[in-house]
Amino acid sequence: MGLIPENVIDEVLTRADIESVVSRYVLLKRSGSNLWGLCPFHSEKTASFSVNPSKQIFHCFGCGKGGNSIKFIMEIEHLNYPEAIKHLAGIYGVDIPETGYSGDDIRKEEKDRVKDILKEAAKFYYRSFSDPDIGKPARDYAAKRGLSRQTLDNFGIGYSPISRTGLYDILKQKGYKDEEMLNSGIFKQSSKNNKPYDLFRGRIIFPIFDTYGAIIAFGGRALGDEKPKYINSPDSLVYNKQNHLYAMNFARKEQSRQLIVVEGYMDAIAMHAAGFKNTVAALGTSFTDSQLKLCARFADEVVFFFDADNAGQKAALRAIKMMMDYLKKLTGINIRIRIAKVPDGKDPDEYIKTNGADKFKDVVRNALYVEDYLLERAKSDNTDPETGILDRGRYQADICEYGSWMNDEIKMSRMAGVAAPLLGATQQAVMSQMQKYSQIEDRKLEQMNSRAVERDRIEDINNRNNDVDVNSDQTSYSPSESGYSAPEFRKVNDSATKEEIDLFAYALSLGSALNDKNKISSKDIIRPDDFSGDTLSELVKIFLNIFDGRKETLFAKMSDYFSKLTINGQPAEDIMLKAVDAADRSGDVNVKSDMYLALLFKVRTSIIDKEEERLINLRASSSPEDRKKIDQVLSNLAAYKLELRDKIGAL
Ligand SMILES: [Zn+2]
Repeated sequence: MGLIPENVIDEVLTRADIESVVSRYVLLKRSGSNLWGLCPFHSEKTASFSVNPSKQIFHCFGCGKGGNSIKFIMEIEHLNYPEAIKHLAGIYGVDIPETGYSGDDIRKEEKDRVKDILKEAAKFYYRSFSDPDIGKPARDYAAKRGLSRQTLDNFGIGYSPISRTGLYDILKQKGYKDEEMLNSGIFKQSSKNNKPYDLFRGRIIFPIFDTYGAIIAFGGRALGDEKPKYINSPDSLVYNKQNHLYAMNFARKEQSRQLIVVEGYMDAIAMHAAGFKNTVAALGTSFTDSQLKLCARFADEVVFFFDADNAGQKAALRAIKMMMDYLKKLTGINIRIRIAKVPDGKDPDEYIKTNGADKFKDVVRNALYVEDYLLERAKSDNTDPETGILDRGRYQADICEYGSWMNDEIKMSRMAGVAAPLLGATQQAVMSQMQKYSQIEDRKLEQMNSRAVERDRIEDINNRNNDVDVNSDQTSYSPSESGYSAPEFRKVNDSATKEEIDLFAYALSLGSALNDKNKISSKDIIRPDDFSGDTLSELVKIFLNIFDGRKETLFAKMSDYFSKLTINGQPAEDIMLKAVDAADRSGDVNVKSDMYLALLFKVRTSIIDKEEERLINLRASSSPEDRKKIDQVLSNLAAYKLELRDKIGAL
């Protein structure tokens, strides 16, 4: 099936210690046997996010998210299961052998085909650009914009001829299928004959690279005044514009710890040409939290340039609010945000051309810290340009709101200090007003998040119930996405009695002690058929499969499966975690194994009771011969029940 081999997953879970994995994102404090921090998955003021180093799992008591290191990485980096394992394997130095053919590989193959198409397209655009006749309009445009040969080559800039199927014909010749071409995002589908045709026609073309330099999309700019001015290829198998920053493949090599973010790729190219090679551009969307996270991987400080026009200034406030909200949530990310302003409302590009790169260095150096920028905005936005009079009411509203965005009191207090004299108030008064706003803001955020969390949770539970094919045998049962067969819409019986849950919890809590033959005979090890519901009996099957009497990562491994299932309509993870915690606290290993045996006998006795009832009913309508057989079984059961009762008595 081509899954990542079990021993590799084990190795990853052993090396990727939960505390060290989570600490990269969340500030953790120890309290008792657990570590606590602010949950990175929902907004909160008091820490309800816990990390349990002995079980190697995390759990949030606020939003219910939980699991092992792999699950944490899946959630926080938005990766699927195999991707998260690869991610951790990379960080913790675990080799992953090449696997065979799997669903994942098929996707990978599709992705590779798309990447090949994009590479071919880039070559085609580049050739067209250099073609003496075809490429002339584009070369004229580039010359007008002052793009040097070296810049053009560096950024792989090209030209898409006016022809409707120029690129299509070439790729067809090379054996690419229509469907593959449509997957690449650089073709549109004709409504007449369903054939693909070129998306970019008569435009100067900018390849968009991922962080490591592979082409994942294109942007095309009109040469004249045609509308739209910019066309970007849409999100595809290999491209999600929210997760990328233009020119990051070059900028990250600078290792400057500072990144400059501009609005468009033309700006970014101009900045690189002027020697500011640590510049990146958002790709036609407002700046996103994944882009901020990407920046934080390579830099400690981000300097933003927003367009000086109204739209640009509005975008600035939106982006700042988004980033401040995000930084409030993710305590692990430490990144300074500064906002630069080009004098006279110019583009960085224009300014550099008129004043030179050295002067522009000063502009970058003079970038304002986010709180200073907001102070200035509140003032300039609310000052009448003619009379110079400040609208105090609106200024107060703005400044209190901006103050409430800060995630530290020192910044807030500094802002209050600057604003107080303008408002004729004391710093304390302004500060306490900011804090009021902040509380309202936090509640709003928390509500928004809890609604989102609730939605996720319901979706999650629905998915779990649909995803799990309880009939599948153990070997094909895997939490890996590629391991799933098509969901079977048979209702899973996820019910379990309290005793069944506790029994399984004690087994998990005992761990290797379950293998101590002096305490627990092999006959007394739990079996799938000890449990009445599908979920628990499936989980026990998996448990027995994983359990070899010593695995340290037992609980962390099981948690992969817990996260996919429900027990009595609740996430299995929550239920089992609580029960195992109670079992852990119940006493030493002797107490625990006694409890385990007592529960086992109770559970088995009640199964026998039910079976006896069934057989007695059956007996009434059976032939005399069958009755004899049934009587035999009944007497065996009665004997076994007595044996169990004696065992319980002996504990
Ligand atoms: Zn949470």
